[in-house]
Amino acid sequence: MTTSVKSVVINKDDQGYRAEYTDFPVESIHQHDVNIDVDYSTLNYKDALAITGKGPVVRTFPMIPGIDLAGTVTESKSDEFKVGDKVLLNGFGVGEKYLGGLSAKASMSADWLIPLPANLTPKQAMQIGTAGYTAMLSIIALEKQGITPQSGEILVTGANGGVGSFAIYLLNKLGFDVVATTGRMNEADHLEKLGAKRVLSRDEFSAPGKPLAKEQFAGAIDSVGSHTLANVCASIKYGGVVTACGLAQGMDFPATVAPFILRGISLMGIDSVMRPKADRIEAWQRLSELVEAQYLDTISQEVPLYDAVANAEALLKGEIRGRVVVNCK
Ligand code: NDP
Repeated sequence: MTTSVKSVVINKDDQGYRAEYTDFPVESIHQHDVNIDVDYSTLNYKDALAITGKGPVVRTFPMIPGIDLAGTVTESKSDEFKVGDKVLLNGFGVGEKYLGGLSAKASMSADWLIPLPANLTPKQAMQIGTAGYTAMLSIIALEKQGITPQSGEILVTGANGGVGSFAIYLLNKLGFDVVATTGRMNEADHLEKLGAKRVLSRDEFSAPGKPLAKEQFAGAIDSVGSHTLANVCASIKYGGVVTACGLAQGMDFPATVAPFILRGISLMGIDSVMRPKADRIEAWQRLSELVEAQYLDTISQEVPLYDAVANAEALLKGEIRGRVVVNCK
């Protein structure tokens, strides 16, 4: 019987904070009601912060990082999942508070898992990962507020980021006219190929602005926060909708109420981590219908589990373009 499995393990003790690829006891992993052989995990920005210790992500030690996983059920005490089922997990404190996906085996509460959509492979689900899932949740929020392709242009900030680039791709697939803002204007061609109709410099939005600006966009998907989010709200047309999921520029929101009380705009907060199961299933079903396998292969690279730590360091240094999927088999 297997007593230990290969995992990325983070420790913090007298010898300092460190992540290594090593053996981890299976009995310490098998703590929840569904045991899983992990097929693929991925490296999100949050995972890279956890692995390098550059951000306060990990709350208990030792920790196996990895906020996303896709795998196969090997044992189940839940009526919802049976042995052999393909399952998917994003968030719920996994890789932060509970042992995560960067391991050959994992154990999860059935409440956190959803079935892998039939037309996605575990690898494709991890190519999409929390970034694509959060972009989809943001688009569903716009739709639920009545925004359609006929409403007008949708602005996407942080366009070259994981959430931003998926948002552009998905909005374009759904027939929206997309305007992208980026700090990397040298990537404008790439963003246009992805589906952006126009690309603007992020400098137009990142400095302190006026309470109200010219009404330009029917909606926006923001993953940047701070002055950018304030200026985005000031640029939304009457009755428009903005979603906020991130803080790449900052956690502050130096805005006024003017766009809300004079133009009736709405600001929708997007949280992917504790999202109820029904919303997850809806978002992943939509992703499985919209995303093309060919696109996923152009935006991601596969690395073995033993290379996850080195890739996390490179990711934080900005040395990696696109998503990193981790083969955990
Ligand atoms: P990435 O690091 O992939 O992308 C962030 C992008 O933001 C960058 O590529 C860059 O885009 C832009 N950016 C970075 N720094 C600045 C800055 N100082 N000012 C303006 N723009 C900046 O991250 P993700 O896309 O994965 O995540 C984006 C944000 O969303 C993060 O804050 C993340 O924590 C959050 N997030 C939240 C989730 C939730 O559940 N609420 C889930 C997933 C992510 P460009 O080069 O094009 O300018």
